[in-house]
Amino acid sequence: MKKLLLPLLIFALLAPQSLFAQSENVDLEMVYKIKQEGLKNSKIEDLSFWMTDFTGPRLTASKDKQRANEWTKKRMEEDGLENVRVETARAFDRGGWDNLKSYAAITAPYYTNFAVTPKAWTGSTNGLVKGTPVLIDVKSEADFDKYKGKLKGKIAIMPANSTYEVDFEPLASRYTDEELEALTKARAAGGGRYGNFNYEDYMKRMQLRNLISKFLKDEGVAVLVNGSGEFNVPRSTGGNYKSGDKEPIADINLSVEAHGRLVRLLEHDVAVEMEVEIKNKFYASPNVTNVVGEIPGTDPKLKDEIVLIGGHLDSWHAGTGAADNASGCIVMMEAMRILKSLDIKPRRTIRIALWGGEEQGLHGSRGYVEKYLQDPKTREMKEGYDNFALYLNMDNGTGKFRGIYTQENEMIVPIFEEMLKPFEDMGCSTVTKRNTSGTDHQSFDPLGLPAFQFIQDNIEYGRGYHTVMDT
Ligand SMILES: [Zn+2]
Repeated sequence: MKKLLLPLLIFALLAPQSLFAQSENVDLEMVYKIKQEGLKNSKIEDLSFWMTDFTGPRLTASKDKQRANEWTKKRMEEDGLENVRVETARAFDRGGWDNLKSYAAITAPYYTNFAVTPKAWTGSTNGLVKGTPVLIDVKSEADFDKYKGKLKGKIAIMPANSTYEVDFEPLASRYTDEELEALTKARAAGGGRYGNFNYEDYMKRMQLRNLISKFLKDEGVAVLVNGSGEFNVPRSTGGNYKSGDKEPIADINLSVEAHGRLVRLLEHDVAVEMEVEIKNKFYASPNVTNVVGEIPGTDPKLKDEIVLIGGHLDSWHAGTGAADNASGCIVMMEAMRILKSLDIKPRRTIRIALWGGEEQGLHGSRGYVEKYLQDPKTREMKEGYDNFALYLNMDNGTGKFRGIYTQENEMIVPIFEEMLKPFEDMGCSTVTKRNTSGTDHQSFDPLGLPAFQFIQDNIEYGRGYHTVMDT
């Protein structure tokens, strides 16, 4: 109790100077024009076609991603943005990779083909590989002995690393008024930033898996078959490849259901015949890139200040990354289009940045920080640091905005409350002090910069993201 009261007491002592320090004058005429343009002349559906069906998957540093960069740049130019460019953010140690063919099936005891997604940055099979698959049952290094010399050219069924749990939550839901109210009142600490993830356990499991992979590769296995992803939908993941390494062997994900069926058939000594063909292409593509465009500021004193909005343009390789995160890019592109079409003359420069490399570690936004805000070696702040006004990020799928997470930032709360009031009728006025994590605002937040992500309804995000279903 004492701990809770202390900040309140200290604040009360300081109150006479600071209690009314923050207020925000919202330009309601501008709000009106923005709503009219957004609701009556929306280009969201058009943008959605081009950024998903047309551009396709957008894996970091892939040829597909380069094509998406080019299209996005062209569209920003057509929308009238200035200083539009594809920027190098950071060197990328994996290089470029594209999947050209994926096929996996059993032909005995009956024929079934499986949905299959190769792990990104893993290799190809030597044409169509056929044979009886071998179930790899390794609980410790001692188990390796029983497989020595028996695996050359084989299809290896890897041990299960996840199980299927029935989920009683609906696939899509909206925040209720009570839940939003609770978020408003939630204490700043907790929520999102660290979670209750058991890192030690995870590392132990990963270590054994890496040992198994190495052993199987050394034994000359043809392809590794993993189970990953709920229902009959394999997950998209990536291998540990570094550019210049020897090309890894083929390594594929089937869904947990398909993988489980294989395991159970083999455990029951049923004669299973399987065939797999995977074709992937590696090539030099050394950089993570961001696509950037601007509406330049007009105030002589403030035009160098940057109001930044964005989301990540890269996706995983199996779907078109519609939810994760074409949706964020589409919304931010539309925001820029609306502002441009209203011919506003902003005091500060408004910049959109669509990041690359988010899925492999926020590389695009971290590269932006290194380029403009903080020297990565000396940790000294650059000129851009002082000119950084705000960053707004979107990366929680297609769910509607219900408000904003303020990352424990007390100072911004009254400002956002005022700014969101005109959007109360659209269900978006909740300001929470809570943190949210896992995406690009976190490249800026630890530097003490105001960088935030919106609260969004959960609209079928969990079932599909990072899978072939994210279309
Ligand atoms: Zn994402």
